[in-house]
Amino acid sequence: MDFELSEEQAAARELARDFAEKEVLPTAAKDDKEHTFRRDLITKMGDLGFYGCLIPEEYGGSHLGFLAHALISEELGRVHSAIRVYLNMQVGPAHTLLECANEEQKKQHIPPLVRGDSIGCFAITEPDAGSDVAAMKATAVRDGKGYILNGTKTWISNAPVADTGLVFAYTDRSQRHHGMSAFYVHLNQPGVSRRPLEKSGTHASPTGELIFENFAIPERGRIGMEGEGFRIGMQHLTHTRLSCAAGAVGVARAAREAAVSYANQREQFGQKIGQFQMIQDQIAQMVVHEEAARMLVCRAAALADSGKPNNLEVSIAKYAAAEAAAFNAEAAMKILGAYGYSTEFPVERLWRDAKSYQIVEGSGNIQKLIIAQDALGYRKANR
Ligand SMILES: Cc1cc2nc3c(=O)[nH]c(=O)nc-3n(C[C@H](O)[C@H](O)[C@H](O)COP(=O)(O)OP(=O)(O)OC[C@H]3O[C@@H](n4cnc5c(N)ncnc54)[C@H](O)[C@@H]3O)c2cc1C
Repeated sequence: MDFELSEEQAAARELARDFAEKEVLPTAAKDDKEHTFRRDLITKMGDLGFYGCLIPEEYGGSHLGFLAHALISEELGRVHSAIRVYLNMQVGPAHTLLECANEEQKKQHIPPLVRGDSIGCFAITEPDAGSDVAAMKATAVRDGKGYILNGTKTWISNAPVADTGLVFAYTDRSQRHHGMSAFYVHLNQPGVSRRPLEKSGTHASPTGELIFENFAIPERGRIGMEGEGFRIGMQHLTHTRLSCAAGAVGVARAAREAAVSYANQREQFGQKIGQFQMIQDQIAQMVVHEEAARMLVCRAAALADSGKPNNLEVSIAKYAAAEAAAFNAEAAMKILGAYGYSTEFPVERLWRDAKSYQIVEGSGNIQKLIIAQDALGYRKANR
């Protein structure tokens, strides 16, 4: 598989790197400490076209593809994971609408997401339904003119600030997986309340609950047919998982860069600590984790760009990249000693942010389930 970048892909990566270093990095520590939601950065990324890689020009995108999107995700993840989450909350719903919505819905909802005018989110998880998506309790009951939605979605990125969202609920619980439906809704309306949730990292990315109480959804708010929600949700997660994996590679890279830089400066026992073999062992492992994860992400993205199924390759990439991020952040913390543990240096933020990649978009165990069941022949991931 050849990962030589096209001119457009290389330019997208350069643009994202430049943006991340000039516009995101200078305030990353402050934004994290003060839990600042950066609406202005959402707008700037829209102006730069970051949300359009998976979207054709007719809906405002550039159609550069999954590899270009992954490269942008890595650059943002390297500098500040919370800002990488913003990217996924715009691109994820826009791409799912592209694949599953009708023409009128696409024209209405995709361009505002691609421009960054409408802040997006997707709401699958509930208090009693995390990995087990089918255990969700939310219902959308027909009322003649449309649906009435009731239920609580939790751990939703952008919940406190989103204008619109892709929401999943049962229209017929007796059908289990085949009774779930997907909706695209405007959230600044009666019947929705929001509750922010605190977490260990990615503080500049607000997370929270969306509580729907007799929330009215018009018929045109349903995406796809009734009963297609589970399939749409899983399709959605395959794509957002890839972006997430690319962001994790960015964290692994940032941790390796911080460790190398420190090991080349810090002196103990009369020499640079980089000259100690035990530090070299840690650095070597970090390089291998990062590079392997990047190759796996590129493979999964290239498959998507060539129109081939990639569920298995995305799960492999997501698992490997999340582990690489966590391993490298932990190793960097050890190499920086007290300065790794210090809140004055970025490594402890990388360490906190890295943990999120092992949970979001399907936990590590869920990725391993997909990988192992495919390997054992129980359930093919690419069907
Ligand atoms: C920062 C953050 C942002 C998020 N953003 C969103 C969002 O935007 N939209 C959204 O819908 N959700 C979001 N989530 C929710 C996320 O997708 C879930 O947390 C995740 O799917 C895991 O669910 P859970 O936390 O309920 O864990 P559980 O499913 O309860 O799992 C608990 C533990 O059991 C393990 N486990 C579960 N089932 C199995 C099994 N069959 N075999 C082996 N082990 C298993 C898991 O791996 C985990 O270790 C977010 C979460 C976080 C932390």
